[in-house]
Amino acid sequence: MAFLRVRSKSDIKDLLTTRDADTACALFSKADSVRRKYVGDEVYLRGVIEFSNYCVRDCLYCGLRRSNRSLKRYRMGCGEIYRTAQKAATIGIKTIVLQSGEGLGHSLEEFCSLIAKIKKLRVAVTLSVGEMKFEEYARMRDAGADRYLLRFETSNEKLYGFLRPGCRLEDRLACLGWLRQLGYQVGSGAMVGLPGQDAEDIAGDILLYKELSLDMIGIGPFIAHPHTPLAAKKSGALGLTLRAIALTRIVTKDAHIPATTAVGTVDVGGRQKALECGANILMPNMTPVKYRKFYEIYPDKICISEDALSCHGCVKQMINGLGRKVGGGCGDSFKMPVKKIILNRKK
Ligand code: SAH
Ligand code: SF4
Repeated sequence: MAFLRVRSKSDIKDLLTTRDADTACALFSKADSVRRKYVGDEVYLRGVIEFSNYCVRDCLYCGLRRSNRSLKRYRMGCGEIYRTAQKAATIGIKTIVLQSGEGLGHSLEEFCSLIAKIKKLRVAVTLSVGEMKFEEYARMRDAGADRYLLRFETSNEKLYGFLRPGCRLEDRLACLGWLRQLGYQVGSGAMVGLPGQDAEDIAGDILLYKELSLDMIGIGPFIAHPHTPLAAKKSGALGLTLRAIALTRIVTKDAHIPATTAVGTVDVGGRQKALECGANILMPNMTPVKYRKFYEIYPDKICISEDALSCHGCVKQMINGLGRKVGGGCGDSFKMPVKKIILNRKK
């Protein structure tokens, strides 16, 4: 088997772009063994509730961008979100991810009560609702939110500014710093194969994951959406995405890394492949079926007609098929004594 050296940015770049099949194979197998050593065979499930597709931002890549007038918009009420979370908890989901476009749409007070109520279901609560003020993150943390997902999308500052009009990478990174300061378990990530992105940028993303000491890292291919300015661009390739996942595992060692829905969308076996080259998380969709087709961040998203129970059944089958097991417990970060951090904050 080919010898692998992953020490510098240029090693990472070389491995991302290798055309040698033996080297790619050695990379995947090393990532799989690093995964086994640092995070084990358990695959943790995160049940995602996409509670609103309204968005105040205009990201060039995303189908939810505010300029996309062809999308029917919806926002679930707090009661409906709670009932959906309750259903997910009943079938054994131990982490609820509340995701939406940016601009909450619910009053902060109402949303915080919802978080507190969901916490009573004895689940971990992850939020993924975009950039907010420090005080808002603090209120949601006090209400009981445990984790936050906010991808930095690309570490290339110029590309970031182009793809997210009116936004700056440094503001995104400042948000990640605040979340860390507030004791959230912090997830970030990026897309692979963005128009204008090269291997140097992806290597930069991987080094930034390490620098930020992230608890979770979501990596998925960019998928061109027909109702966005990037409609005619090429989507990110599966192979490059898998190599980015494998290198991220090798470099960051014990971070949680999901086999994302986007990887499963570009290739039917994409999520299984990701689980075999570094990933250890699956995110079954818990959104009520009637809303799913409207949460169209990118086209042809998988799992838009199955209900929560069949999504759960399908991912469990996938995990068993790989000879792995579903993680027991909430699947907190491997990086930190979570309890200690919570206690410190209460002092
Ligand atoms: N509004 C929040 C959360 C929803 S978007 C936010 O932006 O953080 C969730 C993720 O979807 C984004 O972070 C982005 O990485 C991903 N995404 C958006 N458009 C995409 C596309 N066309 N292809 C692949 N992933 C996309
Ligand atoms: Fe809105 Fe997030 Fe899509 Fe950007 S990526 S348009 S912030 S939903």
